[in-house]
Parts: sequence; C-alpha cells; structure tokens
Amino acid sequence: MALELGCQHRESIRQHAMRDYPSECCGVLLGKADGDAKEVTEVVALTNLRHDPCRAQELVPLDDLGRETDKNRFLIDPLDQLRVEKDARARGLDVLGYYHSHPDHPARPSVYDRDHAWPWYSYVIIAVERGVPKDLTSWVLAEDRSAFGAETVIGD
Ligand SMILES: [Zn+2]
Repeated sequence: MALELGCQHRESIRQHAMRDYPSECCGVLLGKADGDAKEVTEVVALTNLRHDPCRAQELVPLDDLGRETDKNRFLIDPLDQLRVEKDARARGLDVLGYYHSHPDHPARPSVYDRDHAWPWYSYVIIAVERGVPKDLTSWVLAEDRSAFGAETVIGD
C-alpha cells in the first residue's frame, strides 16, 4: 500500500498544523484510488469540532472531558463530512483518508485514533513540536481493526 501525497499537499497539511497549534488540526484527503494505490489530488482543511466542546460532547462523548480536549483529540463535524463527500463524489473524486496533527507528540496513532478509524482509509498524522511541523506519517487500519500498519508515503 502506498499513498501518493505531493509536495504541495504535504505543505498545506504542515501549514494547517502550524496554524492550529497547540490544538489538533484535521482534514480530508481526496483523490483517486486504484486498488490499494491512492493518489491525493486535494487536501481539504476542516475545523476540529473539539474547539466547541459542548457540541462535540453531544455527538461523540469523551470519557474524561477536561483531560481530553482539542489539544489531544479531534472530531470532524458529520455535516462537514457529508458536505465534503458529496462534493467529492460530484467531481468524481474519492475520500482516500484523513489527516490530523499531534501537537507535541510523535506522529504515531493513539489508541483513541485506532478506536475511531476504519479499514482501508489512510490516516496521515503530522507531529508538531513547539509549533514546528516535523514527521509526517500515514497509517492504515487492519481489516480486523486490531492494529494500524505504516503506509508508505510517496510524492515529489
Ligand atoms: Zn491522533
């Protein structure tokens, strides 16, 4: 499995991650899928709904509100998700995956990330250390949802 993510798309993820630091940023990756090969042609930045704790809590409750905030959790608004999917479909594009940042944490998926992921999709994580974007990695959940496997990221 490989994710083709060109330089300009990596850059827009980096910029978004910097802008939202120290909160987690999130967005959607659109493009073309051919079997397990995915080519990103568009990166759509979304608002982390955890910025609005009351509404987010109504949608997907957290166990430990207070410790879990927009600094270490992200949530995509289902309305944003629908809008992006519909728009992508109308233009013949697929939703290939999602990205989010890990402020002051390594670019590895958390248990929470695993519990909220679906197989096949690419989950790009970018680490941000003291406001500076660092490693960018991509992960795919196993069919049985037991674990994430690292996905190769290619691109110019
Ligand atoms: Zn995460």
